[in-house]
Amino acid sequence: EKIGPVLADDDGPVVYSFEYLTPKPSHAGPDAVVDTIARMAAYAPAFCDLTWRPQPPYPEITLSLATRMQALPGVETNLHLTSLSMSLASIDYALATARAAGIRNILALRGDPPEKPGGENAFNSAIDLVRHIRATHGDYFCITVAGYPEAHPCKFPEGSDRATKEGYESDLAYLKEKVEAGADLIITQLFFDASIFLKFLDDCRRIGIKCPIIPGILPITTYRNFKFMTETCKTMVPPEVREKVEELKGDNTALGEYGVELATAMCRELVGRGVRALHFYTMNKDGPAVRVLQNLGLLAGEDTGKVMIPRQFEIEKRL
Ligand code: FAD
Repeated sequence: EKIGPVLADDDGPVVYSFEYLTPKPSHAGPDAVVDTIARMAAYAPAFCDLTWRPQPPYPEITLSLATRMQALPGVETNLHLTSLSMSLASIDYALATARAAGIRNILALRGDPPEKPGGENAFNSAIDLVRHIRATHGDYFCITVAGYPEAHPCKFPEGSDRATKEGYESDLAYLKEKVEAGADLIITQLFFDASIFLKFLDDCRRIGIKCPIIPGILPITTYRNFKFMTETCKTMVPPEVREKVEELKGDNTALGEYGVELATAMCRELVGRGVRALHFYTMNKDGPAVRVLQNLGLLAGEDTGKVMIPRQFEIEKRL
């Protein structure tokens, strides 16, 4: 089913979703991810995202994984798709394959510019991909687009770790255009300060973006991943968070505990301020997101010690 209507219900229960990475093309990769998704489906996520990498052989791996995912009970797939490093024919093939698998949700992205120039780029912006999906598939798909609470890093002046006010405003105006081109939902880039998301949400509403805006939450798991994600996304890390992460960097267990604690506090603030949906970047691990939801008392299930048994009525309510 399309995920838009579930998320548009402002008075409904707080819902959550899980994002998974397309794994490297090793034999065990996709099977292990399917197992994780199947296990986590028991917690009744509103939907599950699968990321896209345009370089072969990833598109085939992703499409096959997405097809298996969509066939799992309780999983509504939100398939990512990029427009850079993809030919128009391969985009159309991906959309047709998704549709044949019963997938009704696409996260339309431009993607990052390829390291090596050359190759085909069907569209140079997510807007054109959104328009293309609408032109070729009408309303069949619920379309999500990416939002950047700190602005997209391309709006950061050379050598700066923050966007200028003008850059931030032009990024917002561009996001509004993406929605007007036919997007139904926005999922945001990760952040480590709830007030950054809340300000972004207010700013989006101020300029007339009306669709649901879902915060993307990354519970910190390992130091390596934290460094990689925050450096790639140029995320603002509050000094006290940076200090703590540096202090715990030799101990991934303690760092993981802190990651869950920090994400719990951030989500508690967001939910307290009326946010009705939380999107978790799982990095293909079930522990952290599930523990955050447990801490918040939002997990659709009962803690029976080790295994979480979902309560049927809650699942029905959410799906
Ligand atoms: P666009 O929305 O097309 O544009 C990016 C930025 O360019 C805009 O924010 C804007 O600042 C600027 N811009 C472009 N055109 C204009 C204009 N006309 N006027 C003003 N500004 C303009 N990457 C992957 O490779 N695979 C994934 O699965 C993936 N999933 C993601 C999921 C989420 C929720 C997010 C937030 C990001 C994801 N990314 C993924 C990363 C994303 O591909 C990169 O951030 C990429 O650089 C931008 O893609 P976009 O769709 O946001 O681009």
